[in-house]
Amino acid sequence: MGAKSIAVLTSGGDAPGMNAAVRAVVRSALSMGMEVYGVNRGYNGLLKNEFIPMTLRSVSDIISDGGTFLYTARSPEFNSAEGVKKAADNCRAKGIDGVVVIGGDGSFRGARDLVGAGIMCIGVPGTIDNDIACTDSTIGYDTALNTAMEMVDRIRDTTESHDRCSVVEVMGRKCGDIALNTGIAVGAITTLVPEVPYDFDKDIVARIERSRSTGKKHYVVVVAEGVGHTEELAKKIEAATGVETRATILGHVQRGGSPTLRDRVLASQMGYHAVKLLHEGISNRIVATKGLDVVDYEITEALNRDRVFDEELYKISAVLSI
Ligand code: ADP
Repeated sequence: MGAKSIAVLTSGGDAPGMNAAVRAVVRSALSMGMEVYGVNRGYNGLLKNEFIPMTLRSVSDIISDGGTFLYTARSPEFNSAEGVKKAADNCRAKGIDGVVVIGGDGSFRGARDLVGAGIMCIGVPGTIDNDIACTDSTIGYDTALNTAMEMVDRIRDTTESHDRCSVVEVMGRKCGDIALNTGIAVGAITTLVPEVPYDFDKDIVARIERSRSTGKKHYVVVVAEGVGHTEELAKKIEAATGVETRATILGHVQRGGSPTLRDRVLASQMGYHAVKLLHEGISNRIVATKGLDVVDYEITEALNRDRVFDEELYKISAVLSI
């Protein structure tokens, strides 16, 4: 039987476009004749009974806002059998039979557990890292890419004026997608990602030397957070090449800001798709994109997949950025 009353929450790390996704969930649910509640601070809100009835106007003027107006949190209390049961009982007491969880892999593990406790759940991927294996893109990724690119462009200006080298760390603990795409977009001399081991002499020093021999005088190295040691790396590059080298860690600037058009549309499509599934009585799925299509996969099957790193794009980046 299709859901009659649903809740929506944002969980784990925030991402630009989460608001657009919540808006899509709320308005899709209302259009399909369901009741809909917003839940504050992820799974914590389910445990604390923080259910806020949503109307069409509750989500006005948020499509362009970064962050999440429902707030987000990590909830250690939820991550236990008792916590999951309490959250499910609170939903049932409120008459809620379906939940849309907007977050990352951890949040989807929580959704899977909630399904086990008798509540229909759909996961919507919202994370800047693009580290969810089953989907081509996640909500917030495009915005983070554009922010990283703009920030590195600025760093590049001053790097050029001073004939320097800049090592810029972008987000991505296990996933080098932000680094790889930013590296290509800014013409980084080398891009280091967690998926591919690197050789300091061959992949950095030799590339700088080769570019220097053809007249290049300034260099940008993009490093994914998961590779680490960014400050140390800058010192090593300066020592090995004699080029004055500075390190910049972009950090949380990549998590904020108004979502790009791409993220707003993606969030709208995914939010609608999630509600449609619940309306049809379909549960235990993660919404994803495959090419231009919006699709969905069983949660455990999706969580067990391995991410595929774009080796071809990595190769192209090494050929062009020289
Ligand atoms: P993300 O969703 O961004 O990956 P986290 O990994 O921090 O973020 O997960 C967010 C929340 O989801 C956690 O605080 C916890 O409540 C829940 N969660 C995470 N991992 C699990 C798990 N293995 N089982 C059940 N719930 C989980």
